[in-house]
Amino acid sequence: MSEPIRASNGGIMGQTETTISSGFWQMYQRLVNEKVLPYQWRALNDEIEGAPKSHSIENFRVAAGMSNSEYQGMVFQDSDLAKWIEAVGHTLRYAKKQSASPSESVKQLETRVRETVQIVTAAQQPDGYLNTYFTVKEPDRRWTNLRDAHELYCAGHMIEAAISVFEATGDRKLLDAMVRFADHIDATFGGEQGKKPGYPGHQEIELALVKLYRLTGEKRFLTLAHYFIDERGRSPNYFEIEANEPQYRPIWDFDDGNHSYRQAHAPVREQSDAVGHSVRAMYQYIAMADLALETGDTSLREACERLWDSTTRRRMYVTGGIGSSRHGEAFTADFDLPNDTVYAESCAAIGLFILSNRMAALAGDARYPDVGERAMYNGVISGLSLDGTAYFYVNPLDVHPEVCDSSGTYEHVKYRRQPWYGCACCPPNIARIIASLGDYTCRTSGSTLYIDHFYAGAVRAEPAGGPIRLRLEGDYPWNGDLTFTVDEAHGTESTIAIRVPGWCSEAQLSVNGDATEIGTLTRGGYAHLRRVWSAGDRVRLVLPMPVRVIEADPRVRADFGRVSIRRGPLVYCLESVDNGRDLHTATLSSDPKFEVEHRPDLLGGVTVITAAGYTFDRTKATSSGELYRAVSESTHLSPCELTFVPYFAWSNREEGEMVVWVRQEGR
Ligand SMILES: [Zn+2]
Repeated sequence: MSEPIRASNGGIMGQTETTISSGFWQMYQRLVNEKVLPYQWRALNDEIEGAPKSHSIENFRVAAGMSNSEYQGMVFQDSDLAKWIEAVGHTLRYAKKQSASPSESVKQLETRVRETVQIVTAAQQPDGYLNTYFTVKEPDRRWTNLRDAHELYCAGHMIEAAISVFEATGDRKLLDAMVRFADHIDATFGGEQGKKPGYPGHQEIELALVKLYRLTGEKRFLTLAHYFIDERGRSPNYFEIEANEPQYRPIWDFDDGNHSYRQAHAPVREQSDAVGHSVRAMYQYIAMADLALETGDTSLREACERLWDSTTRRRMYVTGGIGSSRHGEAFTADFDLPNDTVYAESCAAIGLFILSNRMAALAGDARYPDVGERAMYNGVISGLSLDGTAYFYVNPLDVHPEVCDSSGTYEHVKYRRQPWYGCACCPPNIARIIASLGDYTCRTSGSTLYIDHFYAGAVRAEPAGGPIRLRLEGDYPWNGDLTFTVDEAHGTESTIAIRVPGWCSEAQLSVNGDATEIGTLTRGGYAHLRRVWSAGDRVRLVLPMPVRVIEADPRVRADFGRVSIRRGPLVYCLESVDNGRDLHTATLSSDPKFEVEHRPDLLGGVTVITAAGYTFDRTKATSSGELYRAVSESTHLSPCELTFVPYFAWSNREEGEMVVWVRQEGR
């Protein structure tokens, strides 16, 4: 391998990085560092009492000959450990930037990851192959079921893990091993004579290979990613070809007949609707956008834009959740967004967030990070408990515990976060995205530094012309008063372009105390400030955050006649613990008179919204006892005060109902 040529995010972000040092996201990153990663380490070692066992680390020991146990768990169990390793890498990288003397928890993570890499690399086969399921269980059936066996998916996650550890520590052990594995995959697959055709049933290797190309400069990895994307969905369908091979053995029963579950129903450039398994879809679209960025492929870019619009304009929840059906963890039809039988997997919202970053780089419009922000502040972190030890896989917008417990329809919907899952893709995915959040704050294009997200901390970027460093301060998302102070600039003219969120219509901007006309500066949703920047220059962006009452497109059947409450980037919800039972009757007054109060004592410190409304009060209602009766006064609702809390923080107190969409008087 040649020397690394640039950071793995270099192709999309320019060279930018934000060390988050205060506020909301520092709290989350500290939680990941001190609680989530140590807890997940115990989970991956099967040490959490009462939780489903992972078997992930034990499987690597078995494959490495260090244990005589049997392989256990799903075929893709390797990927859980890979995502944990990746998360530790990001955490170490940022911890080292923040302090020369690492904390005890950071030192412990570094030791653990070093030991884990020893086990993982010991399980690698002499030819570079690495997959514990096939190594232990079916060594003769490698690559014979690309549709369901997840070998390339697991490979992609371990490549991402290797890059993360290398970038944090400079240790090449896992990276060198994964380059060998990537070389093995490259020698196995492709259009040349003697190679296997095909592509994975669960996308992931493609985006990982682009990352590996960005790090190493080795063009063959980019070419291989392109091959997998180009082959997908071509006729005759590869999954039908492999199913007729003598070595083939089915793993799952699930099939939808036309391969749309795996986005292999048509060549990717002909795909227009977001269909099938929503996480697979996101990982595919990320790779397509990455390839379009690296190669300038306009047909891929146009497909990305169509698929983005399908996803976010017709098939996305108000929380940024996607995939509305449990069946296939999949997209369904336009505007079919049921709030109670919902899927909205945490991993899918994470995929949407990452895709929003690639789309912003590709198309340079703030509507992409607007969606990314929606997903991150709502449908992603809703998957993590405030103490870091419990997780949602499914993120509902309407929950009734008694119904969840009694109806198989809601078997997948939990009202209490879980300590682990037999299929635990989400917990380590949440850890790795929070740990790497500083990679998503900004990006450069030419001499412009784009600021996509408002994560308080120190930004380092290298737009054309020279490096720039600035500090981003503020108490976002609770308060929209943001200050950007230049700490170092390169003395030539450059542009700082700050996203003006789509939810904010009254933003104000000043530079060194002088108010500017923000409307004339704003293009594509970014306020462009061009000048010769000097150390000490200060930009202040004020984003007023009145409470907003939101309605859905009338074609969303589940939401018609209902409203949701939003403040800044946060979507709010009602919980029984604050509002009693029968939340389906909760009705916002026609003149709700919103009160906003920041409560440092509540849910780790959240801003609470109260409003005048009505609910069905069982103690006051008189009833004939009949289930159905003539309309009468007895069903009238009683006035009450409704208390809304941020959606991401629900289910951190006592169990109860929760709703996002409520009725409003007079609507
Ligand atoms: Zn998941």
